Amino acid sequence: MECHFCKIARKEISSKIVYEDENFVAFLDIYPRSKGMTLVIPKKHVKSLDEDEDLSGRLFLTCIKIARAIMRALSPKAIAIAYLPSHVEHLHLRIYPYFENEIPLIENKPVEVKKEELERLAETIRNSMEGEVVQKTETAKESRDRSEEEIFWLKRDWQIA
Ligand SMILES: [Zn+2]
Repeated sequence: MECHFCKIARKEISSKIVYEDENFVAFLDIYPRSKGMTLVIPKKHVKSLDEDEDLSGRLFLTCIKIARAIMRALSPKAIAIAYLPSHVEHLHLRIYPYFENEIPLIENKPVEVKKEELERLAETIRNSMEGEVVQKTETAKESRDRSEEEIFWLKRDWQIA
C-alpha cells in the first residue's frame, strides 16, 4: 500500500495545508482532537526520528514556527508538540493547540470537522505565518470521495486511544 503522507506531500491527495517549504509540509488533521490540530511531515519518506537526525531537528524547528503562527491565529491556552506511536509509517509530529476547559492529546476523541471549517482554519493559520513562510503553497485538486484506504489511515489513532 502506498504511503498516504507521501501522497499528501506530492499533492496527489488534497489536504488543508497550513505551511510548506522545500522539505516539509504541515496540514490540518481532518479528525482533530483539538481545534487546529496540525500534522507536520518531512516530504522525504522516513519512518522515525532516528533515520535522519538532521532532518528531524529541522522538523522540530518547523513545528515551532507553525506553533507560533497557531498561537497568533487561534489564541489557544497552550500548544503541545508530540511524537506519538502511529500506524502511519511516515514520520510526523503533531501540534495540538488546546483551549480553556479542554482535555488535550489522546484523551480526546477525534472529531470529524467539515471541509469548509477546515479550510477556514487553514487560511487563518496560513495568514498568521507572516515572517515565517518560506514558500507559497500550491493546493492539490479537490479529491473525490474518500477511499476505504484513506479512511483507514485517517482513523489510525482510534486504535491507540
Ligand atoms: Zn511516506
